[in-house]
Amino acid sequence: MAHVSAKRAINRGVGRLADLVVTEAKGCWVATEEGRKLLDMASGIGVVSTGHCHPRVVAAAQEQVGRVIHAQVNIAYHDKMLELTDVLQPLMPKGLDSVFYTNSGAEAVENAVKIARNATGKGGVIVMQGSYHGRTLGTAAMTTSGRGYRQKFGPFMPSVYVTPFPYEHQGTSTAKAIAEFDLLFKQQVHPDDIAAVVMEPVLGEGGYVPATREYVEHVQAFCKANDILLVMDEVQTGFGRTGKLFATEHFDVVPDILVTAKGIASGFPLAAVWSRQDITDKQDPGTMGGTYTANAVACAAAIATQQVIKDENLVQNSHDRGAQLMDALRGIQKDRPDIVSDVRGLGCMVGVEFNTKLSGIKGAVSKACLDRDMILLGCSAFETVRFIPPLTVSADEIDRAVEIFTEAVDEAAS
Ligand code: PMP
Repeated sequence: MAHVSAKRAINRGVGRLADLVVTEAKGCWVATEEGRKLLDMASGIGVVSTGHCHPRVVAAAQEQVGRVIHAQVNIAYHDKMLELTDVLQPLMPKGLDSVFYTNSGAEAVENAVKIARNATGKGGVIVMQGSYHGRTLGTAAMTTSGRGYRQKFGPFMPSVYVTPFPYEHQGTSTAKAIAEFDLLFKQQVHPDDIAAVVMEPVLGEGGYVPATREYVEHVQAFCKANDILLVMDEVQTGFGRTGKLFATEHFDVVPDILVTAKGIASGFPLAAVWSRQDITDKQDPGTMGGTYTANAVACAAAIATQQVIKDENLVQNSHDRGAQLMDALRGIQKDRPDIVSDVRGLGCMVGVEFNTKLSGIKGAVSKACLDRDMILLGCSAFETVRFIPPLTVSADEIDRAVEIFTEAVDEAAS
């Protein structure tokens, strides 16, 4: 077996779907050292939205590597960071006109909390039950989608409160979630102590559950009335994933802070925290930064990524292919009502929940897909698997994914 000692050296805490070695990837396909070619319904967990190694992204990165790789932002501006900002600013929900770049989603969420604390002079944070915001110590404190993300890593940042997310299929209606939100503020904490409510517009690792408009509106109204900032974590949903450029558009809500990462740069480590300028203008120069923040190659790749999203109509394709996928999956649900209990999602962010009584079925379906050369991930909570293909995915590739999935479900349930 190849790489035995190197594989052993990789920290045991890193779990993985497959004991395979990826050597190349293109579009919706991933090739491995073992000679397999896999259909990718994960896109590196919602990252390579333009497909693996899109030629325009590759060319932009290659060109930039020969000019400037690293220009540290606390030393000077660099042209690609400013160009990217010019590209992104008109795309952002109205009023969000200040940006801070980081390397990962978790860092971006942590910085959103810092910005909110600084602006409000308050310390507490509200998160949703089932949330995933990252694995750093700060964001692990805010992550509740699975206990493994927190197991033996505490103690955590204090003053993080958890409130139920509307998840009808598992018994939390919008009305119940709203009532619990209000109760939290009556019984556990005063709004004077809360800087931010942090929410994913579509619960990601926690089950691919879209929020409801009524819930988001309620939370936003409460925040506005109580000097609390609404932070939308669009790390997974941003840049077309849900069939709109940002998932918050589905709810007609403009948050105070919007966090993006993953799909922003086609796989290069980059994230961006967008907020209103009146919020970040309260900060003193020197209080934000980081060695690799807004890396020049990542910024060049992000500029190309935005051009590809626009030129190839990827937001529309996300909507169309997502609708095709949901239709087909609902057909599978109709034929197997005892096995598939819910199909839900927005755009190319689609979850399939199995009957909760079929304990372990999501793992069995994932494995049966892998045996048939398709990558399909599960969510942390309940028996849910998720489809997050590159937004370049074709109708034929969706058909193929559905074919494999159908066989996998039948095998896993037999
Ligand atoms: N927020 C959300 C909603 C996410 O889905 C993720 C990653 N799955 C993160 C934050 C953390 O991002 P990263 O892994 O880049 O730190």
